[in-house]
Amino acid sequence: MGNSNNGLVDRYGRNHDYLRISVTDRCNLRCHYCVPNGEHQCMDFEKLLTDDEIIKIVKIGAKLGIKKIRITGGEPLLRKNLPKLIQQIKLIDEIEDIALTTNGVFLKKYGAELKEAGLDRVNISLDSLDEKKFSYITRDGNLQQVLEGIVTAINLGLNPIKINVVLMKDFNVNEVEDFLKWTIREPIDVRFIEYMPIGQGNNIWSDQYQPLSIVEEIAQRIAPYLGITRNKQSGPADQFSFENAKGSFGLIHPISCNFCDACNRLRLTADGHLKPCLFWSDEVSLKQIIDDEHQLLHAFKKAMFIKPERHQMGDAQFDFGNPTTRVMSAIGG
Ligand code: SAM
Repeated sequence: MGNSNNGLVDRYGRNHDYLRISVTDRCNLRCHYCVPNGEHQCMDFEKLLTDDEIIKIVKIGAKLGIKKIRITGGEPLLRKNLPKLIQQIKLIDEIEDIALTTNGVFLKKYGAELKEAGLDRVNISLDSLDEKKFSYITRDGNLQQVLEGIVTAINLGLNPIKINVVLMKDFNVNEVEDFLKWTIREPIDVRFIEYMPIGQGNNIWSDQYQPLSIVEEIAQRIAPYLGITRNKQSGPADQFSFENAKGSFGLIHPISCNFCDACNRLRLTADGHLKPCLFWSDEVSLKQIIDDEHQLLHAFKKAMFIKPERHQMGDAQFDFGNPTTRVMSAIGG
């Protein structure tokens, strides 16, 4: 299957080669910023895409130019037979890279099997290095399990190993220095991410939103002793590393430094909707047309057509559209 139909280019000239697939909306953790109410109504199992359906969709996407896949959730390691799904995606010629975003709790158990199946690399979410704070933010998660998951990922060489840290004003700004110094000792890429108002009111969000300029300030305080280099940009992240450090760090600031003009992502929800923008409610439903290749191709094109020019996260008023009502765990981040 060669690339066809002039690829996935939207009305603003952006080319899309990256599909993020949520394989379940269920999660073993309940992070405050991801599931603001503590519980979300999980999708009925029969509404979830099957492995065969996901593969059909990825094959159409690949035909149109998708090269990179990220498996996410909910917690993707809760999905039965995930290694088999990864193995099947790996067999699609056009797919060059398969990554996984996980909370890391089950990585020690399943990491080797996932690597064997063809997983290239992993992002692990971790917002605090303090056991009590970690337990609070995840609503009862166990920090030790995640740290063991990170060691497993390092030992398996699931590189680059990225650690996602959502920065929140009164929660973890005082840990930035510890996270930065961690990159000196370990071969990890810590990526600070701005807290986004997805699936929650702007007022809940604005209370804890912290622009990432503070990370640069803290890094500069360490830099005179160690030296700091600005590396090549990796996706939306501004990348840095300290001199002689084993790892690096990156800043992803969707709010204070909008990067919509370089957006190359499409999202597939666990219940089979193509989501062209993380923020807005616009989606294209694929479940009913799953057996019709022509209609699936058309659905990808439609997603390109309805993709808005930019999100308006953090704006008090919107010029267009409705923000999504899905919480982040039902989209995949
Ligand atoms: N369960 C997996 C995990 O924990 O990585 C994958 C799903 S989780 C929704 C994916 C990413 O979204 C995580 O790194 C999480 O920190 C991030 N995320 C969730 N809600 C967010 C928010 N409101 N703002 C910024 N990032 C958020």
